[in-house]
This record gives sequence, structure tokens and C-alpha cells, in this order.
Amino acid sequence: MGIPIGNTYTATASGSVWRPVRCEHCDVSFAYLMKREGIGVADSLLWSRNEAAGEEASAMAQESLAVQLESQWDARPCPGCGAYQSSMTYLWRKARFMNVAFVLGGVLALCSATLFVMILFDFHPPRAAASGLRWASLTSFFGMGVAWYWSQRLDPNADAAKRAGRVEPGVLRKEAYEERVAEGALPPLSWERAHLPPA
Ligand SMILES: [Zn+2]
Repeated sequence: MGIPIGNTYTATASGSVWRPVRCEHCDVSFAYLMKREGIGVADSLLWSRNEAAGEEASAMAQESLAVQLESQWDARPCPGCGAYQSSMTYLWRKARFMNVAFVLGGVLALCSATLFVMILFDFHPPRAAASGLRWASLTSFFGMGVAWYWSQRLDPNADAAKRAGRVEPGVLRKEAYEERVAEGALPPLSWERAHLPPA
């Protein structure tokens, strides 16, 4: 933000790939659809290179998308036994933490904003309200740490048996996938390299 001295170009590129997995628990082979979005930003200082900046932004977005599709993976349960692969555990735990952190972060931001406005306008709230705000801020702040500790101790496969045999949307067993390949509807996969990148 500030005085406008040029244009900022933003571009997005979205894409998806099918990731093959050979389950380390039950040996079932399956593939899941992994979707990603790349973002590119470029500046045209003093409007000197608008066209170049636009192209630069979309090239950056494409590059970022390609890197993500090549190097990342998702946490998806096996349609055979319902378990997650060990290489997916970190992602699964992070997702659990982020759910809690999102709520706590919201509380923290709200409290901070309220306190900031009170200070700004030299407003003295009733003592109970002030201590309530402080309490909520501190709790959500330390709650983040507790949530992280908690999430790192969760076992993604504790309830794997409940998911056994369930094929989620965006997941195909190898046989079903190969049928679609034969129809020309999906690109062939290298099942030998199952679960990319190597854990
Ligand atoms: Zn399995």
C-alpha cells in the first residue's frame, strides 16, 4: 500500500494430477486427484512495463503450479484398509492443528483489534470486560501451543477400520483407474513409482 507508482499484476494457474499410491499397510494400489493453485505477482514500476509484468506474473503462477504438482502430496486414506500412509501423517496432523488454530487465531485477532481500538480512543472499559479480553487473548495464544502439542500426538490411523472399503470422491482403485485409462479418459500412471515423492 501507499502512493500508487505503478501496477501490480497478479495471475493464478490451477491444475491437478493423479497421484498413485501403493498402500504400505494392505498393498492395495489406488490413485487420488491432487489439485493445486499457483499464484504469481509482478510489478510494473511507473507503468513502464505493463505487458512484461503481466506475462511475468502468469509465468510465475505456472512455475509455482508445476513445482507444487511435482513435489507435493495430500493426506488421503487408502480405499482398501482406510489407513493413511506414514508419509501423510505430518500433513494430516497439520490439517487438524490448522482447524483449531483458525478458530483460536480468529479469537486472538478479535481481542487484539478490540484492545487496539480501546487504546486508540482512550476508552476505559469496565474492569470485568478488560480482564475478559486479556483472559481470552492469553488463552487463545497459549491454546495455539497446546493445540500443536495435541495435534502431534494424534494417530491418523486410530479409526482406520471405520474407513475401510470406503472410496472417497477423487479416489480410484488401480483397477478402476486402469479402466478409465483404457477408455482414454485418464492418463496412464507409473504404479511402480507409487506414492510420489518418496517418503
Ligand atoms: Zn491400505
